[in-house]
Amino acid sequence: MPDLTRISSLSELPSVDRLLVGDGIAALVRERGRPLVLEAVRGALDEARAVVATGGTVARAELESAVAARVRTIAAPSLVPMFNLTGTVLHTNLGRAPLPEAAIEAMAAVARGASNLEFDLETGRRGDRHRHVEPRLCRLTSAEAAIVVNNNAAAVLLVLDTLAKRKEVPVSRGELIEIGGAFRMPDIMKRAGTKLVEIGTTNRTHPRDYEAAIGPRTALLMKIHTSNYSVEGFTAAVGERELAGIAHSHNLPLVSDLGSGSLVDMTVYGLPPEPTVRAMLGDGVDLVTFSGDKLLGGPQAGIIAGRGDLVARLKRNPLMRALRPDKITLAALQSVLALYEDPSRLADNLPSLRLLGRPRTDIDAQAKRIRRPLAARLGEEWVVDVVHCRSQIGSGALPVDRLPSAGLRCAPASGAKRGRSSKLQALAAALRTLPTPVIGRVHEGALTLDLRCLDDEAGFVAQLDRLAAP
Ligand SMILES: *Cc1c(COP(=O)(O)O)cnc(C)c1O
Repeated sequence: MPDLTRISSLSELPSVDRLLVGDGIAALVRERGRPLVLEAVRGALDEARAVVATGGTVARAELESAVAARVRTIAAPSLVPMFNLTGTVLHTNLGRAPLPEAAIEAMAAVARGASNLEFDLETGRRGDRHRHVEPRLCRLTSAEAAIVVNNNAAAVLLVLDTLAKRKEVPVSRGELIEIGGAFRMPDIMKRAGTKLVEIGTTNRTHPRDYEAAIGPRTALLMKIHTSNYSVEGFTAAVGERELAGIAHSHNLPLVSDLGSGSLVDMTVYGLPPEPTVRAMLGDGVDLVTFSGDKLLGGPQAGIIAGRGDLVARLKRNPLMRALRPDKITLAALQSVLALYEDPSRLADNLPSLRLLGRPRTDIDAQAKRIRRPLAARLGEEWVVDVVHCRSQIGSGALPVDRLPSAGLRCAPASGAKRGRSSKLQALAAALRTLPTPVIGRVHEGALTLDLRCLDDEAGFVAQLDRLAAP
């Protein structure tokens, strides 16, 4: 007796049209629209055809559920919020700075409809999009002028393309950085048509190295903040103030790529010192470039602040049209910058700073609260401990400093080394499949969740009963 509930030959497979009119699928079409369901039906049939063609069988009843599963996968958004429990606060792969509510509201407000992005409400004429952030940036940094582009890599590109095309820029060998995601200073310089003149050595560069490199084709001097590493030991570098003196004595501008770039003194908030944009400009730097979503705590953006005549040249570069920020970025940046007007409340109002400044006692107490529900969910095969750990700031800011933090260490209760390692990977994978995926850090035989960035504790605990313990 052949099993009629199973399809075993190609001719028994339903056609696309047959499958589409089945009750369950027709309901999906009403819910999600025909094109998406059609794609899912074709996919499910292709898969069934492959099974049957290689001698397998497919349950008739399962075809519909296979289509439904495909529809869910196709329709699901790809970009989703997560819990960043990696211990790296400004994690480039996880979207860097969390934005304050005020910035989120400002973005939503301009996203919803028309705005005065490039419209002057006073004169009723065309306006300039930069004026929404420029005055505030100037006040906060003491710059004469400032502009915003898509990100800091774009800022560096725009500066070099405008000021150093077909010209030379001497850079210390100790500062030829690679930031993650294929941002290499020598490559950006090449793209901008700038000839890089390497000077000094990896560990030591002196004023005379700059002096010797300056010639008729030199466009500017450049200082690059070594954001993601530190050179220690027998080292020498030329500071901004001295370098500005050298540059200006040759009538050249000094550009500093600060990377993270802070608008305020971070030590006030209990964090390690990081050069501020204001201090750089005070030291005589003519243009400073920095990111909007690193220590500043705002949206992805690149900010260029400094001398008015140089910024005016940047604004006139046709590349500006390609690199300019959109209204949503400007709305968020405007509102984040506004928070800096009141430094006394900044640590409360700016989420990135609040997370960076969270004391260990606070995180430790949170770990103690969460340990029990997590341990209960993971069951007897796991040991869950409250541990002290160290968070990183991330995004290349303050690369060697670590912030005392606390978290939960999940380790398999027993097993050989290989089995334990695959068990850890299975736990990491299970955490990633939660409705709001949880990302921790697997190292030293355990999966550690650094709780520094856990704001929504209730949300985290509430979804634990969806966790399938491996
Ligand atoms: C991060 C960084 C960049 C790149 O900035 P993005 O905003 O990521 O484009 C460039 N230079 C330095 C020194 C950096 O730290």
